[in-house]
Parts: sequence; C-alpha cells; structure tokens
Amino acid sequence: MFCPQCGSENDDQALFCKTCGAKLTNLPEDTSLQQQIPVPPPRVDYAGFWRRFVAFFIDAIILGIVTGILTFISGGYGGFNNYADFGPGHLAGIMFSNSFSIVIAWLYYALMESSSRQATLGKMAIGLLVTDMEGRRITFMRATGRHFSKIISGMILMIGYFMAGFTARKQALHDMIAGTLVLVSR
Ligand SMILES: [Zn+2]
Repeated sequence: MFCPQCGSENDDQALFCKTCGAKLTNLPEDTSLQQQIPVPPPRVDYAGFWRRFVAFFIDAIILGIVTGILTFISGGYGGFNNYADFGPGHLAGIMFSNSFSIVIAWLYYALMESSSRQATLGKMAIGLLVTDMEGRRITFMRATGRHFSKIISGMILMIGYFMAGFTARKQALHDMIAGTLVLVSR
C-alpha cells in the first residue's frame, strides 16, 4: 500500500504511514461499479490526555488491589502491622514487596498491551488500544520498552505524561521512546 500523502510504501496492515504519519485507508484496487459502494474509513483517532488519565486511574486501582492481595497471600511482606519495627528483616520485606509490585505492574501492562486486545483493563473500559507507529499490534518487547520508559515520563513532574495532551500524534514521552500510539477504538 502506498501513502496518498508522501507516496512511500507501507505494510498492507498499516493504519498510518511510517514516513509521514498520514492515515492510510485500505481502498480496493478495483474501482468497478460494484466496488463503488462507499466503505467507511477505519475509525482511528488518537487518544488524548484525559481519556488516558481515566484508564491509568482504573489500572492503578486494579494493580493496587492485585498487588495488595498477592502481598498479603505471600506472607504480608511490606508490613501491615510492623511499621514500628525498622530492623533489617523489615527493610528486606519492603524491598521484596516493592520489586514484587514492579514485576506485577510490568507483566500486567506488557502482557495485556501486546495481547490481541492491545489494552489493559483500564484502556479496554475506556475503549483505547496501543499500536505501533503504523497502527499494528505491538510485541511484548515493545510493550516492555513502553512500560519502563514511563520512568522517564514521570521524572520531571510527569511532563512526559502531559505530552499526550499536545504532541502531534498525542504521544506521551514513553510512546515516542517506544514507537507506539494510543488510539480510540470506538
Ligand atoms: Zn506518508
């Protein structure tokens, strides 16, 4: 498929041009009368800051509950009852609990955003999906890169997150680093 805007060749599955970012419509080559029934273009819109914020909020609640339950089951590391005790055992418990929640958050985001749903539960609830720069499903590796790039997005007063409100393709900083887009799916 060739881009109508800049003419560069793109994958047939691509929703966006990899060179200029223009929306691509997969029009049939055959333009006989039979084919002239108007086909609505694929509905793809970039998701802005507030939709993404609501999805983020839902995911944070879900992750908080899941991590809390798993931490409790695994023996209550992190200390629900021993905050006064700051011995080495308690410190080890906190470190274990923190690395545990880092792994859970990573797997939650990377597995779900690279799955066929292309979304976490929060994004599904709002109707968002994560794609590569050409609108295709992302790999687990790319989803992992996207997830950990959020550390950089969060560094300077969350400016990397706010960038989703004003960049050309509504990308947060971690989307730019990972080469991803967040689209409205309905
Ligand atoms: Zn193009």
